Amino acid sequence: MCRHLAYLGPALPLARLLFDAPHSLERQSYAPQDMRAGGTVNVDGYGVGWFPGPVRYRRAGTLWSDANLRQLAATESTAFLAAVRSATVGMPVADAACAPFTDGTWLFSHNGRVDGWPHTVAGLAKTLDVTDLLTMDAPTDSALLWAVLSRRLETGKNPDQVLVELVREVADAAPKSRLNFLLTNGKVLVGTTWTHALWVLVQGQSVTLASEPLDDDPGWREIPDRHVVTAAPSTVEVRPL
Ligand code: GLN
Repeated sequence: MCRHLAYLGPALPLARLLFDAPHSLERQSYAPQDMRAGGTVNVDGYGVGWFPGPVRYRRAGTLWSDANLRQLAATESTAFLAAVRSATVGMPVADAACAPFTDGTWLFSHNGRVDGWPHTVAGLAKTLDVTDLLTMDAPTDSALLWAVLSRRLETGKNPDQVLVELVREVADAAPKSRLNFLLTNGKVLVGTTWTHALWVLVQGQSVTLASEPLDDDPGWREIPDRHVVTAAPSTVEVRPL
C-alpha cells in the first residue's frame, strides 16, 4: 500500500522529509519496510501539498525521477502532507489518482483499499450529488472517500469526528478494507490506523506523522491499530476508533 506523511511545526524545506531523511519518502517509495502484504513498492505516483495554500503537486510515476519535484522541495513550509502510491489492482495510474487530494482547504491521503470496490461502497457513493460523482478526481476508492469526506468537512464538524465516522461506515460496509487516513488544514493533523502502521514524532514545537519512521530518532512512537491521532504542535491525542 502507499506510504504517507504529514508535518506541522516550524518552517522546514519539504526536501528534509521527502529526500534528505535516512528513510525519506523517496526511500520508502522503493524500499519500504512494513507493507503488510499490501504490495511491495510505491512507484505508481506521488504528491505533496503544503501551506500556506494549500499548493498541491502530484504526478503518476516514480518520485525519484522527477527533477521538478527536487527543485520544488526547496520550498519551506510550516505544514505539509506527502504520499507515494502503489495503485490498488484494477485502479488507474494517473496524476489525478494520487494523493494528496484537496478542496482548497484540506489535504487528504488514504493508505489502503476499500475491499469489494466499487460494489461495497455504492451506497456511500449514492449519498453524493451526481455532480460530485461526475467531478471525482479519479474512479478510485481513495477519490470516492475524499469526495464524501470533503462534503462532510464543509459542515464544520470536527475533522477527527468526520474521519472516524467515515472509517466506521466503510469498515461496516466492507470489513476487510484498509483505512489509514491523513488529513490536515495546516493547523491540525488527523490520522487513522486501520491495518497499516502510522508513527508519530514530537520534537520541540513540531509533530510528524509517517507510515514508517523517517530516521532512527528514539522519539518515534507507533500509533496502535484502529486508533485516531489528532496532533497540533503542542498536543498529540491518541484514541481508539
Ligand atoms: N487504493 C488506493 C489507490 O489505489 C490507495 C492505494 C494504496 O494505499 N496503496 O490509490
